[in-house]
Amino acid sequence: MEPEKLSVLCIEDEAPICLFLKTTLAASGYAYLQAGTGEEGLVQAATRNPDLILLDLGLPDIDGLEVTRRLREWSKKPIIVVSAREREADKVAALDMGADDYLTKPFGVQELLARIRAALRRHQDSLGKPEEPLFRHGDLEVDLAHRKVLKSGKEVHLTKREFGLLAILARHAGKVVTQRHLLTEIWGEAYADQVHYLRVHMNNLRNKLESQPGRPEHFLTESGVGYRLAVD
Ligand code: CA
Repeated sequence: MEPEKLSVLCIEDEAPICLFLKTTLAASGYAYLQAGTGEEGLVQAATRNPDLILLDLGLPDIDGLEVTRRLREWSKKPIIVVSAREREADKVAALDMGADDYLTKPFGVQELLARIRAALRRHQDSLGKPEEPLFRHGDLEVDLAHRKVLKSGKEVHLTKREFGLLAILARHAGKVVTQRHLLTEIWGEAYADQVHYLRVHMNNLRNKLESQPGRPEHFLTESGVGYRLAVD
């Protein structure tokens, strides 16, 4: 018996993109589900229970942001938002509302498939598992429970805020975390727009933990959006 295919629901109204997604996903062994409007997408998400949702932010009826908000009221399934370049701010808002990742149009097949695989894997890993207290990647090791950070086996001292930032990124390893999320968690709601605070502390983290701070391997910048801690 064939194993059941993972299904991807594409909430997208542009026919050429739907065709591209359908062809690409089918060729990679996913079951393809499609909705052309936000309302239809919400209905399909509830009735067909897809494993992942690809969501266009520019939909003809309700906004993709509203779709994200409504999905997150009851669903924890991965959501990858797809946006045009002129909707950068919406992309960040969608991540803050609980979307998992984003793709900017136009995007390539490999990028799309890699993002889908990563989001599915993270979701699978998070199911029924206690929070992983250790993060390891390359020469970096973070022991969240004991607040210890090692670079190439040597302990590195971090300030409270530096450790706080690192801990959030490690808990969301591989996923982009928005500037607003990091600022709100570490400094508080009143500092949500103080991007330069974040930049200074991320620079400190890189100086302490990257072999070449100017060419980071661990602390990746998502320009205008936030940061991502690299995973393999
Ligand atoms: Ca659209």
